[in-house]
Amino acid sequence: MKAEAGTEREIKSMKRVYLSLGSNLGDRLGTIRRALDQMSATGIEVRRVSSFYRTEPVEFREQPWFVNCVAEVATELLPMQLLKALQKIEWGLGRRRTVGKGPRTIDIDILLYENAVVRSAALTIPHAGMAERRFVLIPLCELAAHLRHPVTDRTVVEMLNETQDRGQVIRIRTEDIAAGHAPAHARVGIANTD
Ligand code: AMP
Repeated sequence: MKAEAGTEREIKSMKRVYLSLGSNLGDRLGTIRRALDQMSATGIEVRRVSSFYRTEPVEFREQPWFVNCVAEVATELLPMQLLKALQKIEWGLGRRRTVGKGPRTIDIDILLYENAVVRSAALTIPHAGMAERRFVLIPLCELAAHLRHPVTDRTVVEMLNETQDRGQVIRIRTEDIAAGHAPAHARVGIANTD
């Protein structure tokens, strides 16, 4: 029947999702790249990835700097299914939950899932902290500066201009990574010196 076919198409349609990835233990850049590679094997199609950034820890400050990026992905997974799939990838890459805001081999957060608003014990979408984190907003701005937050109606660039966060977010030049001579502030995946 037509109506059923339409419903099925709707359920199976690909959703556009923005993810934040971060790491501050071990081979930070390599771990993020492995996480992105593993997504395609789990029904999460990586469409675009921002630059990588070296970022200052916020909240729990006594820990190594992070490497962060944002990825635009497409998936048929529903929000909770997606969270579970991402947690499986985190676990496989050695993520163990210890100190709340402490060091982590890999952290993957769901920032936006189309225009969905989800509020449950396990999942908050849009991500609760996104408007207050330059390490999220700067890479997200590269991919979708004019995308609107479905609750506040602010665009990404507006959130970036309005945030109180002053944490340092330094773009890593891929030329430096490839050549193996990154300046000290961007030395990641080559040596973890901080
Ligand atoms: P984290 O320490 O950042 O990995 O987050 C811990 C918990 O946050 C996870 O176990 C999730 O259940 C929960 N959580 C709530 N909202 C989100 C979201 N949008 N993306 C990822 N995790 C989330």
